[in-house]
Amino acid sequence: MHSKLPDVGTTIFTHMSALATRHKALNLSQGFPDFDAPLPLREALARRVMEGDNQYAPMAGVMLLREQIAIQLARHHGVQCNPDSEITVVPGATAGIFCAIMASVHPGDEVIVFDPSYDSYEPSINLAGGRAVHIPLTPDQFAIDWERVVSALSPRTRMIIINSPHNPCGSTLSSTDLAELARLAEQHDLLVLSDEVYEHLVYDGAKHLSVLQSSILRARSFVTFSFGKTFSVTGWKTGYCVAPPALTTLLRQVHQFVSFVAVTPVQLALADFMDSHPDYPSTLADFYQHKRDLFCGALKGSLFTLTPCAGTYFQLLDYRAVSEQADTVLCEQWTTEHGLASIPISVFYQQPPLQHYLRFCFAKRDEVLLQAAEILRNMTYE
Ligand code: PMP
Ligand code: GLN
Repeated sequence: MHSKLPDVGTTIFTHMSALATRHKALNLSQGFPDFDAPLPLREALARRVMEGDNQYAPMAGVMLLREQIAIQLARHHGVQCNPDSEITVVPGATAGIFCAIMASVHPGDEVIVFDPSYDSYEPSINLAGGRAVHIPLTPDQFAIDWERVVSALSPRTRMIIINSPHNPCGSTLSSTDLAELARLAEQHDLLVLSDEVYEHLVYDGAKHLSVLQSSILRARSFVTFSFGKTFSVTGWKTGYCVAPPALTTLLRQVHQFVSFVAVTPVQLALADFMDSHPDYPSTLADFYQHKRDLFCGALKGSLFTLTPCAGTYFQLLDYRAVSEQADTVLCEQWTTEHGLASIPISVFYQQPPLQHYLRFCFAKRDEVLLQAAEILRNMTYE
């Protein structure tokens, strides 16, 4: 039997986290916090489990949670969404992305992705029978080159996938980018999948720009979000997808046979916490900006060049002054020899032009960030 995904191995996140554990290295590779979720949220889950909220939820998600999501979308992004017809709770953004693609990409369709692109997009497109058309982000700014997008469009282009704030680059799309996307999407009748899992992690006073804020884009977009990022519960694997009613109907057709539902007590605990702490997401930008600045500040005097991080909890380091090794080799070497794990970004490219960036996750305790920075500061040219 041959594989339906012949080019796919174990993900780099699983690989690097396992290597870090095996070598007792500081793990700044896979993107998850090394500190716990807010206590009232964990207590809410324990309470919901003990109170017996342990059976199937409604397929689209418990209404209490969908109402809280609608309240938060209005509060933080200024958009009104209908919890009944536009919001679907899914078991993680990865599942939301998969369902959105399976629901709308037909065999032979082309989907534009921007490299470096998050690892789940292309396998999902392939399983739907579509084909990913890769466009690299610009080498230094990690921005979209819209002229390249225009020349990549074909009669078969069905969808464009964007991710802002961007994993792994930490760049964000501007209002000009979204206006250009809206113009092209309307002109060529394209769908958009907007991966906004880092919606609250935007720094230096900037605000997240959601495609939901543009009526043109909103009418043709699936937008995926993750509670894992916002509430530091990546292991709870719960997120949601917002789409207009017609697209939501298509999404749910797939969702109900992928997982049918997301986990009930988790949904209820999230709803309880969101109700009692509506401003919690607004605290995240300062919290993570402090961590970014601590890590970057502690790298002063090192040989690394830091790419500006406008959002996400990832910092890219350009290591050209330290090593000429390929990033895939170097990140393993540093894990085993220096006790520090990171993620190579060349693996997120179809044709990697850059072999000299490593990604470090700064969703870690301050002392861990300082230890990691000390290891990096002591590195000399190899
Ligand atoms: N998209 C991006 C860009 C991500 O970084 C992640 C996860 N880390 C996801 C999607 C998936 O989120 P989830 O864990 O909720 O499936
Ligand atoms: N999104 C997380 C990261 O970028 C990892 C998620 C996963 O392991 N699939 O590190």
